Amino acid sequence: MLVKTIGVLDLQGDVSEHLDHLERLGIAGVRVKEPADFAHLAGLIIPGGESTCLFRLLNIFGIKDVILREFQRGLKLWGTCAGAILLAKNIVGESPCLGLIDIEIERNAFGNQLDSFACEALIPRVAPQPVPLTFIRAPKIIRVGIGVEVLLRQDDYIAAAESPDILVTIFHPELTPCIAFHRYFALKCGLKPRDDAEHSIIDPTWDSRSWTRHAQVA
Ligand code: GLN
Repeated sequence: MLVKTIGVLDLQGDVSEHLDHLERLGIAGVRVKEPADFAHLAGLIIPGGESTCLFRLLNIFGIKDVILREFQRGLKLWGTCAGAILLAKNIVGESPCLGLIDIEIERNAFGNQLDSFACEALIPRVAPQPVPLTFIRAPKIIRVGIGVEVLLRQDDYIAAAESPDILVTIFHPELTPCIAFHRYFALKCGLKPRDDAEHSIIDPTWDSRSWTRHAQVA
């Protein structure tokens, strides 16, 4: 019997960082680029990147309808930042893409790229200690509908929310040393992370320069 796993949509955005975090949990995640890649998935991470670009690529690669179909069959979904925008039922001033979770989201609501920031917050359902959060030209979730629970509210926005089948975060846990959100999503998918991942949610060996590891200078 083939073991179910978690896929990371590999069309645009930060894919390897999510796969690295899954590996830290003892989960061999897979890159998802085409319909055949959906076999054996319990969950799919739609990463951050640029939502207009992802929106177009989803249609060009014929993946949008596959996600909608597999979601009906029980696939769990997690959208980080641009991924959350794609999953939202309402996008301020724009048409929705997948429209699967009843949230209203406003793109680039903190300002431009230079207004990106990092902070920490306690999200009791996800981890017993504060987790680091990285916001990169993030959207704001400004409203959630019935059946959607708020996991983190800060200032005038909601930063993380979930329905029974979908998790949305407007920040990037994969760009921090913290694996708590990946662990939380794995459990939501019915997968069992490695036992020690339960106790240590911060990987001390994580290298913040891992973002640039593919850019080798001759
Ligand atoms: N600003 C991007 C958008 O609107 C999202 C940024 C991100 O995913 N970090 O699509």
